[in-house]
Order: sequence, then structure tokens, then C-alpha cells
Amino acid sequence: MSKKEEIAKFMEMVKAKNPNEPLFHQAVQEVCESVWDVYQQNPKMVEAKILERMVEPERAISFRVPWVDDKGEVQINRGYRVQFNSAIGPYKGGLRFHKAVNLDTLKFLGFEQTFKNSLTTLPMGGGKGGSDFDPNGKSDAEIMRFCQSFMTELFRHVGADTDVPAGDIGVGGREIGYLFGQYKRLKNEFTGVLTGKGQTWGGSVIRPEATGYGAVYFGQEMLKRVGKEFKGLKVVVSGFGNVSWGTVKKLTELGAQVVAISGPDGYITESEGFDDEKIDYMLVMRSSGRNKVQDFADKFKSAKFFAGKKIWEVPCDVAMTCAIQNECNEDDVKLLIKNGCKMLLEVSNMGCTAEAAKLAADKILFAPGKAVNAGGVSVSGLEMTQNSERLGWTPLEVDNKLHQIMKSIHDACVKHGTVKGKTNYINGANIAGFMKVAQAMLEQGIV
Ligand code: GLU
Repeated sequence: MSKKEEIAKFMEMVKAKNPNEPLFHQAVQEVCESVWDVYQQNPKMVEAKILERMVEPERAISFRVPWVDDKGEVQINRGYRVQFNSAIGPYKGGLRFHKAVNLDTLKFLGFEQTFKNSLTTLPMGGGKGGSDFDPNGKSDAEIMRFCQSFMTELFRHVGADTDVPAGDIGVGGREIGYLFGQYKRLKNEFTGVLTGKGQTWGGSVIRPEATGYGAVYFGQEMLKRVGKEFKGLKVVVSGFGNVSWGTVKKLTELGAQVVAISGPDGYITESEGFDDEKIDYMLVMRSSGRNKVQDFADKFKSAKFFAGKKIWEVPCDVAMTCAIQNECNEDDVKLLIKNGCKMLLEVSNMGCTAEAAKLAADKILFAPGKAVNAGGVSVSGLEMTQNSERLGWTPLEVDNKLHQIMKSIHDACVKHGTVKGKTNYINGANIAGFMKVAQAMLEQGIV
């Protein structure tokens, strides 16, 4: 059997066991394609069925989340926590509140998280959770009641040494606060059960900025290898949430020109670049719950709004996906390249379709989300360390450590992904992430 046929056979098994989960299939397929050779070269791993075990979550919990809205009407959502892999540390990964969340979404994210967390060099397993709750247009009181109900079930499955959730799309500092408050009340203990906490109650400095900063640090390393830097480059950054905000902030600091950001309603171009006022306004837009990037153009005269259009049509040197999975497809990559784009960084988890990622990796500089966006969970890991020490570090200490981690992830991708002088960051990230988890699983027996 050829390698392609062997992978197809493996995927048949995955698809039969996990029907109707296209996102999960996409994530598994990508990892299989990257790691197949190194896996086959390790007969002990093959014999212990490491890959077969890795695609099966250790545990997946689904639960009812009832709550009462401001009109007094009872609402029912579904909550989840997928505890994917604990070979190298407690389950770790965010909670996503988004109307499209289902088990498929969280299995793909939990699977990706396992490799991402392995890359960070910190001892964290992989997990992900969330709900199909749509935070858009909800009042603060509704968000609080939902979070309290969600934690009323989740609390029995998590813990500082068991499973440590954090934020993701739809879950930021406010939601982590309500979730933490309810956990503390139920357990009567103050522990580091969640990360992304407020800075006066156990949160780490730089955590809100970490995913964006880390992505830019990763991009800096890639550019450095080809003798370039961000200064003077035109960058498009999709989304306007927490990840985009941190990315725009760091890019601007380094002298890059952010030319466009986007939302579900379209994109805006900004001819004058971003200053502090504009960067801060991204936070205002996010907390408004309106989810409309048009608000930016209404506020700043130098910005222009393009309704219903995809941001990838804006000419740029560098493009960064910071919104959601599969937001950039093969045609988008073709257009980006045609318009002069030289580097595409996946910052959202699986931000590119499989075809888009392959094309970009072949033609221009490309790196996958599990490497590029690992800065967020890395600083979460540093928050866990600070909580265990009962100490808080300075911004400089945390930022330096983040920088160091991103550099080491980049170097691991180059080390494992370079064949005959050409680096494929997708393969590098998958192989480096996989080998560490696989080795740990092998040493821990059939569990
Ligand atoms: N949701 C983020 C991610 O996709 C952060 C997870 C965390 O900090 O645990 O990696």
C-alpha cells in the first residue's frame, strides 16, 4: 500500500467512528499527512497504536445549561468539555461560546490543542470546551447567569491539577470572572482552575495580549530567516477580537502598517494605519456585543467599510488570519499571492482550509495556527506557574518568556520540517508536537 492509501485507510476508520465531524476529520488528516513517516519509523509506537489512541479523546462531556433571560424566559444551551489528551500535563485549553459550536468543533480544537501545548515546552495536555450559547446582544446579567449555570456542571470535571480552561472566541476576561466566581463559591477554594483571570486575582500580565504578540514574534522569526523584518510591511489582520487586537498592537509597535481588519459584516481599510486610539477602539467594539466592524468606519473618517466582502482581497505583504477556522480558502490564497502577499500566518485555529494551507506552504511563507497562535496558551501556562508559586511576575519577565517560547517553537518547526533546505512549517509543527506526546504515551503504558 502507498503512504497515501495507508492514510486514506486510517481516515476511513476515523470517519466511521466519528461520522459527520468534518472539522475533526480535517484536523486529523493534516496531522496524519505530516507525521505518517516518522510514526512508521517507530515500530514501538505503531505496535502501541499511539496514533489510533491519540485520535480518541480521553473523555468528552456534554451537558445541559439552563438559564433565565432578562424577559424571564427559560433558555437551554448545550455545554461541552472535551478532555483530549493528558499525557504531558493537565488538560488545558479554552472555552468557546459561539452559536456554531458543536462536538465536532470542540474535538477539532481539542485535538489541535494537544499538539500546540506540546510545542510550548510547558507541561500541558490538550482540552477544549464551550457552548452553542451566542453572546451577541446579550446583557451583562444574562452573560453572568449563563456562565454561572455553565460552571455549575463544569466544576466537577475541572481543577488546577486536572483540567484548566481559559478563554477563546466569545469568552474573555468578563466571562472568566463569572466562571471563576461560581467555581470558587461551589468548591470553597481559591485555586488556579482557570487562566485569563483578572490581574488583581491571580491573572498574569500580558495574557490578553499574548496570542497576538506571540503570533507577531513567530512571524518575526520567519522573516528573519529570509533577511526581512515587519517594519514598513503592509499587513491585513482579519477579525477585531482579542487576537486581532494584540496582533495589531504589536505590529504597529514594530513599525508595520496594518491596512485592514474585518468582522462578520465585511472589512475596513485604514489608510493612516493604527494609533493607540484606534487600537483601544477595537476593545470597545468587542465589548459592545454588536459584532460589527462597520462601527470602526463610522467612528474614524480615514477608514473605509466594504460590506460583505472578504478581507483577503486587500493587497498586502503579510496576511494574518485572526478570526475563525476555515476563514481563508484556496481562492483567497490565490488572490493574496496575485496581489503580492509574501507571507500568510494562520493565527486563528485552522484558519485556512486544507487546500489553502497546502497552496500557501508551497508558494509563499506559511505557518499553521498550532505554532503561530501558541503564545496565548503559553502565557496561560505561565499563569499556572505563577499561581502555583503564589507570585506574580513583571510584564518584562512574562514578555521575555513568551518571546523565548515563540522562538523555540519556530526553531522546532524548522528542525522537524526542513527537508533538502526547504522548510514546511506545517510538517515541522505537527512532527515536533506529536513526537513529545507520543513518547510520553509510550512511557505511560496502555492507558
Ligand atoms: N483558546 C486559546 C487557544 O486556542 C487559549 C487557550 C488557553 O489559554 O488555555 O490556544
